Amino acid sequence: MEVEGPDDRVGRFRDLLTQVCPPLSRIDGYRHKRIEPIGETNFSIRPSRRDGPASALILPDVAACEECRREIFDPGSRRYRYPFTNCTNCGPRFSIVESLPYDRANTTMRRFTMCDECRREFEDPRDRRFHAQPNACAKCGPRLELWDASGRSPADHEDALSQARRVIQSGGILALKGLGGFQLIVDAENDDAVRCLRQRKHRLEKPLALMYPSFAAIEDDCIVTPAEKEALLSCTAPITLLRRKISSATAVHRVSAAVAPDNPYLGVMLPYTPLHHLLMADLGMPVVATSGNLSEEPICTDEHDALDRLRGIADMFLVHDRPIARPVDDSVVRLMADHMVVLRSARGYAPTVVDLTNAVVDCLAVGTQVKNTVAISKGKRVIISQHIGDLASKAAFTAMRRAAESLLTTYGVTPDLVACDLHPDYRSSVFASSFDHPPKMVQHHYAHVLSCMAEHRLDSPVLGVAFDGTGLGDDGTIWGGEFLLINERSFERIAHLRRFRLPGGEAAVREPRRAAVGLLYEGLGVAAFDMESLAPLASFTPQERCVLHNMLIKGVNAPYTSSAGRLFDAVSSLLGLCQQMSFEGQAAMQLEFVAEQASCVRPYEYTIDLQSAPYVLDWEPMLRQILSDLRESVTPALIAAGFHRTLVAMISTVVEKVGQRRVVLTGGCFQNRYLTECALQSLQRRGFEVYMHERVPPNDAGIALGQIMAATRRHHGGEEQCA
Ligand code: ZN
Ligand code: ZN
Ligand code: FE
Repeated sequence: MEVEGPDDRVGRFRDLLTQVCPPLSRIDGYRHKRIEPIGETNFSIRPSRRDGPASALILPDVAACEECRREIFDPGSRRYRYPFTNCTNCGPRFSIVESLPYDRANTTMRRFTMCDECRREFEDPRDRRFHAQPNACAKCGPRLELWDASGRSPADHEDALSQARRVIQSGGILALKGLGGFQLIVDAENDDAVRCLRQRKHRLEKPLALMYPSFAAIEDDCIVTPAEKEALLSCTAPITLLRRKISSATAVHRVSAAVAPDNPYLGVMLPYTPLHHLLMADLGMPVVATSGNLSEEPICTDEHDALDRLRGIADMFLVHDRPIARPVDDSVVRLMADHMVVLRSARGYAPTVVDLTNAVVDCLAVGTQVKNTVAISKGKRVIISQHIGDLASKAAFTAMRRAAESLLTTYGVTPDLVACDLHPDYRSSVFASSFDHPPKMVQHHYAHVLSCMAEHRLDSPVLGVAFDGTGLGDDGTIWGGEFLLINERSFERIAHLRRFRLPGGEAAVREPRRAAVGLLYEGLGVAAFDMESLAPLASFTPQERCVLHNMLIKGVNAPYTSSAGRLFDAVSSLLGLCQQMSFEGQAAMQLEFVAEQASCVRPYEYTIDLQSAPYVLDWEPMLRQILSDLRESVTPALIAAGFHRTLVAMISTVVEKVGQRRVVLTGGCFQNRYLTECALQSLQRRGFEVYMHERVPPNDAGIALGQIMAATRRHHGGEEQCA
């Protein structure tokens, strides 16, 4: 910006510039210098130059602002009930941007020519829609249509909206083309409709997200803290995990039990596009709004593709003709210790930018297998993609490749390095091997810790506590209950949980009862098989028990693990809470929910072997006490809480023993609020500086960032082997 005028006026302008900012602006850096006046008298904004390197950022999508919301409900406004209303302060961004700079010609709005009135707003610096790239109105912008399952369109505009509403009201399933993809919508109070959706989507028990018509309606059903309210009403409008009101009798809306079975929380969001606002205002009740996909596949973005893929699921399709540039799901957040932790980073958050203290070489990181994201680095910046998901399906694999290519081309990065997980069979690792140079393979938990360090700009040394499901260790065994001391170049594995076998390998990831049998066998030997009345053993037939027995004795198809996640599974199974899981993390979630009900809790005993290197934290005394508590009919709440507190005690012991002031808590287990808050409290009380994830998820979605940090620090240090 060039500004001319008397010193005091220019000075005042400079102050105002940094003090009075538009709602979505953020000043990352600020420099000024004096130049010779040339006698300019007017203010102009020149067109973007297209030749230089892309240094601007793609912004995340932004929920409809209050002013736009008022316009669509104002009969006197020319945008009355127009579902694609937006302005400079709100609207689509990441979901429509195809390349930089962010100009309309580089977005999927390119095909719509602004009418005279829209053009006037767009060109007037005093207008709220000045340079609002997706600016549109009913005369010139995207249009709504309702399609049936064969693609015929019985209605458009206002009719489409009212017929769509009737589909939901009559218990049907509506596929809605939203901001970053399709959502499947049903009446949340209609039990049959919710069950039908689950059945057709092949999603058995995993909680479904809800959209409420208003904040007041959310408060009818859930307990909302001020921090949670802030998240819900923010311009990112994420799905926020909220505690339900205790008895369903006190809740106003009769949300179907099938929405989140056996779960004291609901995942709730507010309408975030004008289309959602219009639909929800007309409905006036909560709806299930879940990703428009088959279980675990990426979300559908194109209406013709949706017709094909969602035909067997949705009854009607509410679509529009604004193309979606890339799939962007709804984001999920949870408040822990009053910090907002992003569990799934997509709409409103992605692409996530992490500014580093030092510049690193250009790198592409491809993340892991489940909860995949990819990331690139450029100078002092890391840019992390939106949530892509489980790479098991071909569609997800393609989505990952596209996300990587899109980040690289958008920012003009040709990576000097490609980083992936140490596990060679992850599809992301296979993709990483397709580049010219062999990829840098990064140990999973090392990446978890570096990810959290990068988010908080921490330098080594730091002690990382990485608790998660599974990740390949550098000794070839499965890790997941790790204490890693991060040094300048690499890391040292200071301690880990005592290992136990997982009979059936991969099968044990889905069946907590297998983890339980493995744990019992490790702790008690063959005597474990005499305890036939214990929940995990009782859930197997005698023949199955015999097979497990053989696997464990011979050590065949029964890999060792030090995973904290599997320990959660095992205890959940011992308490009879969950024997077989229909979604990732189910058993641990149930254990957490039960633990929350306990009052006055004490940790169980455990031992730590300080002679061994790394130290081994032995859970065997705890296991024996849990078994005796079970015999004495101690409540599951007390046992579950005692288990959580034992892990916290183990963490505190190792942290004190190591004596490193800065501690990072990372890995999927730290999505567990009870564990996270107790660990935080315990360590802070002892005077440690504790860091947890916030914008970058603690789960495997945070791994890509950590991979970049590991690969580039190793590169700069000139060290070649896998750390
Ligand atoms: Zn707006
Ligand atoms: Zn217009
Ligand atoms: Fe992990």
